[in-house]
Amino acid sequence: MAVARFWRENASRYNLIGSRCGVCGRIYFPPRSVCPTCHRRSIGKMEPFKLKGEGEVITFSIVHDAPSQLEMQKPYVIAIIKMDEGVNITAQVIDIDPTDVHIGLRVRATLRKISDEGAAGIINYGYKFMPL
Ligand code: ZN
Repeated sequence: MAVARFWRENASRYNLIGSRCGVCGRIYFPPRSVCPTCHRRSIGKMEPFKLKGEGEVITFSIVHDAPSQLEMQKPYVIAIIKMDEGVNITAQVIDIDPTDVHIGLRVRATLRKISDEGAAGIINYGYKFMPL
Protein backbone atom coordinates (compact mmCIF):
# COMPACT_ATOMS: atom_id res chain seq x y z
CA MET A 1 0.00 0.00 0.00
CA ALA A 2 1.32 3.45 -0.90
CA VAL A 3 2.43 5.61 2.00
CA ALA A 4 0.06 8.44 1.11
CA ARG A 5 -2.90 6.11 1.02
CA PHE A 6 -1.87 4.54 4.31
CA TRP A 7 -1.85 7.91 6.08
CA ARG A 8 -5.01 9.08 4.42
CA GLU A 9 -6.85 5.97 5.52
CA ASN A 10 -5.51 6.27 9.03
CA ALA A 11 -6.55 9.91 9.24
CA SER A 12 -10.01 8.79 8.22
CA ARG A 13 -10.08 6.01 10.80
CA TYR A 14 -8.98 8.18 13.67
CA ASN A 15 -11.21 11.11 12.88
CA LEU A 16 -14.31 9.24 11.67
CA ILE A 17 -14.18 11.05 8.37
CA GLY A 18 -16.30 9.56 5.64
CA SER A 19 -17.44 11.11 2.42
CA ARG A 20 -20.64 12.66 1.18
CA CYS A 21 -21.76 12.57 -2.42
CA GLY A 22 -22.26 16.10 -3.72
CA VAL A 23 -24.87 14.79 -6.17
CA CYS A 24 -27.25 12.67 -4.08
CA GLY A 25 -26.09 13.53 -0.55
CA ARG A 26 -25.46 9.93 0.53
CA ILE A 27 -22.83 9.46 3.22
CA TYR A 28 -20.21 6.73 3.17
CA PHE A 29 -17.83 5.37 5.74
CA PRO A 30 -15.08 4.48 5.09
CA PRO A 31 -14.91 7.28 2.51
CA ARG A 32 -15.34 6.51 -1.17
CA SER A 33 -13.95 8.40 -4.11
CA VAL A 34 -16.96 7.54 -6.27
CA CYS A 35 -20.61 7.24 -5.22
CA PRO A 36 -21.91 3.73 -6.06
CA THR A 37 -25.31 5.22 -6.84
CA CYS A 38 -24.26 8.18 -8.97
CA HIS A 39 -21.15 6.61 -10.54
CA ARG A 40 -19.48 8.96 -13.00
CA ARG A 41 -21.67 11.91 -12.08
CA SER A 42 -20.11 11.91 -8.61
CA ILE A 43 -16.49 12.06 -9.76
CA GLY A 44 -14.88 15.13 -8.24
CA LYS A 45 -17.98 15.80 -6.16
CA MET A 46 -17.28 13.59 -3.17
CA GLU A 47 -16.66 15.73 -0.09
CA PRO A 48 -15.09 14.79 3.25
CA PHE A 49 -17.75 14.36 5.90
CA LYS A 50 -17.00 14.05 9.59
CA LEU A 51 -19.27 11.72 11.52
CA LYS A 52 -20.45 13.01 14.88
CA GLY A 53 -19.46 9.72 16.45
CA GLU A 54 -22.80 8.77 18.00
CA GLY A 55 -25.22 6.04 17.10
CA GLU A 56 -27.05 3.00 18.36
CA VAL A 57 -26.50 -0.71 18.45
CA ILE A 58 -28.57 -2.51 15.82
CA THR A 59 -27.14 -5.97 16.34
CA PHE A 60 -24.33 -7.47 18.38
CA SER A 61 -22.68 -10.65 19.50
CA ILE A 62 -20.73 -11.56 22.59
CA VAL A 63 -17.44 -13.15 21.64
CA HIS A 64 -16.12 -15.71 24.08
CA ASP A 65 -13.53 -17.28 21.82
CA ALA A 66 -11.25 -14.31 21.27
CA PRO A 67 -8.20 -14.18 19.03
CA SER A 68 -5.03 -14.36 21.11
CA GLN A 69 -4.27 -10.64 21.08
CA LEU A 70 -7.68 -10.01 22.65
CA GLU A 71 -7.26 -12.76 25.19
CA MET A 72 -7.20 -10.36 28.11
CA GLN A 73 -10.49 -8.79 27.12
CA LYS A 74 -12.80 -11.70 26.60
CA PRO A 75 -15.66 -12.05 26.57
CA TYR A 76 -16.10 -8.90 24.53
CA VAL A 77 -18.88 -7.43 22.42
CA ILE A 78 -18.80 -6.82 18.70
CA ALA A 79 -21.68 -4.73 17.45
CA ILE A 80 -22.99 -3.17 14.28
CA ILE A 81 -23.67 0.43 15.14
CA LYS A 82 -25.96 2.57 13.06
CA MET A 83 -24.47 6.03 13.19
CA ASP A 84 -26.84 8.99 13.41
CA GLU A 85 -25.79 9.88 9.86
CA GLY A 86 -27.12 6.52 8.64
CA VAL A 87 -23.95 4.53 7.99
CA ASN A 88 -23.21 1.28 9.80
CA ILE A 89 -19.90 0.58 11.53
CA THR A 90 -18.77 -2.72 13.00
CA ALA A 91 -16.76 -2.26 16.17
CA GLN A 92 -16.15 -3.40 19.70
CA VAL A 93 -18.31 -2.02 22.51
CA ILE A 94 -16.37 -1.39 25.70
CA ASP A 95 -16.86 -0.06 29.21
CA ILE A 96 -20.05 -2.06 29.69
CA ASP A 97 -20.88 -5.51 31.02
CA PRO A 98 -21.52 -7.64 27.90
CA THR A 99 -24.84 -8.77 29.36
CA ASP A 100 -26.00 -5.13 29.53
CA VAL A 101 -25.56 -4.53 25.79
CA HIS A 102 -28.88 -4.42 23.95
CA ILE A 103 -30.32 -3.39 20.63
CA GLY A 104 -31.01 0.33 20.69
CA LEU A 105 -28.21 1.08 23.15
CA ARG A 106 -26.85 4.58 22.49
CA VAL A 107 -23.09 4.63 22.08
CA ARG A 108 -20.37 7.01 21.03
CA ALA A 109 -17.01 6.43 19.43
CA THR A 110 -13.87 6.66 21.48
CA LEU A 111 -10.29 6.23 20.36
CA ARG A 112 -8.61 3.19 21.82
CA LYS A 113 -5.37 1.57 20.93
CA ILE A 114 -5.81 -1.65 19.05
CA SER A 115 -2.84 -3.94 19.05
CA ASP A 116 -1.71 -5.80 15.96
CA GLU A 117 -3.92 -3.94 13.58
CA GLY A 118 -5.11 -6.14 10.77
CA ALA A 119 -4.70 -9.35 12.71
CA ALA A 120 -7.90 -8.96 14.64
CA GLY A 121 -10.30 -9.87 11.87
CA ILE A 122 -13.36 -7.66 11.74
CA ILE A 123 -11.97 -5.10 14.15
CA ASN A 124 -10.74 -2.81 11.44
CA TYR A 125 -10.75 0.58 13.04
CA GLY A 126 -8.80 2.46 15.66
CA TYR A 127 -11.85 3.28 17.70
CA LYS A 128 -14.31 1.48 19.88
CA PHE A 129 -17.71 2.43 21.19
CA MET A 130 -18.82 3.08 24.72
CA PRO A 131 -22.27 3.71 26.21
CA LEU A 132 -23.46 7.32 26.10
ZN1 ZN B 1 -24.44 9.91 -5.11
